[in-house]
Amino acid sequence: KWGQVKQDLLNTVGKNNFANWIEPLELARIADGVATFDVPTSFVGNYVSQKYGDQILYHLRGISPEIRRIAFEVPARPARAPRPAPASAPKPANGRAERESMIAAAPLDPKFTFDTFVVGKPNELAHAAAKRVAEGGPVTFNPLFLYGGVGLGKTHLMHAIAWELQQNHPALTVLYLSAEQFMYRFVQALRDRKMMDFKEMFRSVDVLMVDDVQFIAGKESTQEEFFHTFNALVDGGKQIIISGDRAPGEIEKLEERIKSRLQCGLVVDLHPTNYELRLGILQSKVDFYRVQYPDLVLADGVLEFLAHRIRKNVRVLEGALTRLFAFASLVGHEITLELTQDCLADVLRASERQVTVEEIQRQVSDHYNIRLSDLVGPKRTRVFARPRQVAMYLCKQMTSRSLPDIGRRFGGRDHTTVMHGVKRIEELRASDGQIAEDLDLLRRTLEG
Ligand code: ADP
Ligand code: MG
Repeated sequence: KWGQVKQDLLNTVGKNNFANWIEPLELARIADGVATFDVPTSFVGNYVSQKYGDQILYHLRGISPEIRRIAFEVPARPARAPRPAPASAPKPANGRAERESMIAAAPLDPKFTFDTFVVGKPNELAHAAAKRVAEGGPVTFNPLFLYGGVGLGKTHLMHAIAWELQQNHPALTVLYLSAEQFMYRFVQALRDRKMMDFKEMFRSVDVLMVDDVQFIAGKESTQEEFFHTFNALVDGGKQIIISGDRAPGEIEKLEERIKSRLQCGLVVDLHPTNYELRLGILQSKVDFYRVQYPDLVLADGVLEFLAHRIRKNVRVLEGALTRLFAFASLVGHEITLELTQDCLADVLRASERQVTVEEIQRQVSDHYNIRLSDLVGPKRTRVFARPRQVAMYLCKQMTSRSLPDIGRRFGGRDHTTVMHGVKRIEELRASDGQIAEDLDLLRRTLEG
């Protein structure tokens, strides 16, 4: 049975993922509706469960519907206890338990790996730098400083580095935490008079990752300690990776000497996403949802619509998609543009300036060099009809107007006329390079 499920999984997860994660799984037993797998470490168990749990369960149930749940277990093997993830405790024998509790780093999100990170123009440099550091070779950039706006993938990349380092170099002690947690530990150590332990612990790691460093701006004693930790590690040839919401030089109330230290290595920024990247991210998420909701049908144009309309923050974009799928699975509908607009009305409203129907009409008539009155007028010759359909299509894609509403604004046309126009342009976009180019240009101009 498991053999057959494996075969199915091979087709859905791809060869590499299969070899890394699925192949090594051993089905230990099925009891009380729970299928339990043996895994070599709890890291593998967590990862597989997060990433492939749904798919495994789905395929298993195809064969044995009585299975309700899957579980992962590390078989008792006294000689090779799994290391605590994400950070492993430093070696010295005395005081070890205490330091282990102090090291309690932020947990790593199993979804934040390089596998799930979609690369595009805006983030390719940051991605390449992160990849390089994650190889764990000789320290080349120190520190690596990643910065960018909210929700652009800084934390995702940092976790991905940590996961990869742990995979490739299990002997390295990797410590990931936010600047806020750094401060918290520091204050706690001061209060409990454990500064020696604190210093020793931070200075004993091989790789230190501090997320959202802007948090310690203005916090003087924390900055001081951070500075010393930083120097001690760099002098010891240890890798440091820091993220911030802006370039080091622009973080207010951060000590000059820290700024200049942060600038010594490689500073790379994550640029705001572009349309292609947003679409790519949505597509990769949808592949994941298709497994979870195998019966849902996603209409053409929905992802494009979302990628157009939600531009700022990838987290919001992802949240919107999650909600859309959950909603559609409840009401059992096909995910259409209509449903999308309904279900996500508040998100769409909140996501910045709307392009108006009037702006689209003006832009399109300019572009095709026809009069606005002809664009919305009754003439049905191709020179007017085609631009009109383009404008209707853009209204459908870029505004939250309904079809009847758009029809009204095009000289009182019927909603079926609008629908026909939108369909026609969708077809042409795929077959006619000129139209595709026109649409692209118009969209860019309208988005400003
Ligand atoms: P930041 O730390 O920069 O505020 P996060 O790393 O927390 O942002 O990213 C926010 C969300 O967006 C996360 O769920 C993350 O997985 C997702 N995300 C951001 N960029 C990408 C990308 N390029 N590919 C896939 N997911 C991304
Ligand atoms: Mg973050």
